[in-house]
Amino acid sequence: MRIDFTKNNGLIPAIIQDNETKTVLMLGYMNQEALDRTLKTQKVTFFSRSKNRLWTKGEESGNFLNLVSVKNDCDNDTLLIKANPVGPTCHTGSDTCWQEGNYSDYGFLSKLENTIQERKDNATSEKSYVASLFEKGINKIAQKVGEEAVEVVIEAKDNNDDLFLSESADLLFHYLILLQAKGFKLNDVVEVLKNREK
Ligand code: AMP
Ligand code: ZN
Ligand code: ZN
Ligand code: ZN
Repeated sequence: MRIDFTKNNGLIPAIIQDNETKTVLMLGYMNQEALDRTLKTQKVTFFSRSKNRLWTKGEESGNFLNLVSVKNDCDNDTLLIKANPVGPTCHTGSDTCWQEGNYSDYGFLSKLENTIQERKDNATSEKSYVASLFEKGINKIAQKVGEEAVEVVIEAKDNNDDLFLSESADLLFHYLILLQAKGFKLNDVVEVLKNREK
């Protein structure tokens, strides 16, 4: 592997990606020594600009990044490193340095989940439909999920795709609200599904 360390005081950026979930976990800098150490120990090791020394991620916390692969980019000046993280990678306790909580990113659904959580946290603000559902409580929310599920069943038997999709969206939306009301995230369900696969 030919790597160009000349551009930035002998340091190149290394993007760390979770080998399993493909989430971007963090970014650090490596010099030749850090890369050598990483390849030798199979634990991702950076050159820390603040510590001004080699820094093996996890050296204090035990939250190591176990090396899977190292890849050069098109012009040999940035690394993409796939790793299996032991515990949270960010020192804030998050899985990644770009997330607030410990949940995986489900794109738009995660955004929607966050909006629903905000409505739950401000459940007294009157105008929000979601907030009013949280006000009414879990039984009412669960009942809504049941109703929307029945509507999906009804539309599944018809030949109207628009109605079927619309009721499916209603079901998913209210199901996310029910999860939130029970204190769960979509990721908790996904984890159950993943475990069943093993
Ligand atoms: P660790 O390498 O996990 O033992 O953490 C040692 C120290 O490195 C922490 O106290 C933080 O100051 C810093 N640190 C750990 N993880 C990160 C990270 N993902 N990004 C930036 N700094 C970090
Ligand atoms: Zn490049
Ligand atoms: Zn961080
Ligand atoms: Zn509906």
